[in-house]
Amino acid sequence: MLLLSTMAAGAARSVSVRLNAVAALSSSTSSGGRSRKGQRRGDAKPQAPPPPLPRHGEAPSKKKPSARPAVGKENRAVEEARVPPRLEGEARKGVQQQNKAKRVVRWKCASGCGACCKLDKGPDFPTPKEVFADHPDDLQLYKSMIGADGWCINYDKSTRTCNIYQERPMFCRVEPKVFDEFFGVPRSRFDREACSACVDNIKMVYGDDSAELSNFKRVIREESNKVEASKNQDKLLDT
Ligand code: SF4
Ligand code: SF4
Repeated sequence: MLLLSTMAAGAARSVSVRLNAVAALSSSTSSGGRSRKGQRRGDAKPQAPPPPLPRHGEAPSKKKPSARPAVGKENRAVEEARVPPRLEGEARKGVQQQNKAKRVVRWKCASGCGACCKLDKGPDFPTPKEVFADHPDDLQLYKSMIGADGWCINYDKSTRTCNIYQERPMFCRVEPKVFDEFFGVPRSRFDREACSACVDNIKMVYGDDSAELSNFKRVIREESNKVEASKNQDKLLDT
């Protein structure tokens, strides 16, 4: 399989080609499906700005009464205890980043998938020429593997397995070393990039609501939880 992701077009392409040869074989939009015109991968859907909040000590505007029901004095303490104190912008960002950093993500191939063995990946993905710009031999090999239906000629559709698995080309191997040496993905980004690439490939082949996508997410969740649990156990043993 060549796992590429679809951070595809335009200016993003030159970067993603390096970062996502695995991902280059995936059509990543973290929100799922294709990006809207002018919207890049990871961009949040534009939302209407929230109404301004009254400053500390300032009475709410009389023109636009709050939608919240009035809180009697006797209930105010309960209400305030229930509402967590607001974090200021920077502090909130810091906590969010900490939480994100703590979350373990581990990539694992979901058996019975095979999506990345569809080698003709369509316009949302970088072209083989872009992906293998520095690897002309691999470009030739890759092209020679594309069957008339776009799938790898070594792929067995009935079993969803590779007929030459042990001897498959280097670029088919989803391994940190390959990602690093071949596609320029640092070890620290391997799991996330590989997961992202798989999601893109699975969506491209089976669709956004497919059982294959649900299965892949389940496999990743279980694998990640397993690693997280083992880490926590190690921490306990160290204390
Ligand atoms: S050689 Fe095997 S692993 Fe590589 S794309 Fe073909 S079927 Fe998939
Ligand atoms: S889970 Fe990922 S690596 Fe495994 S076959 Fe599917 S797309 Fe390829």
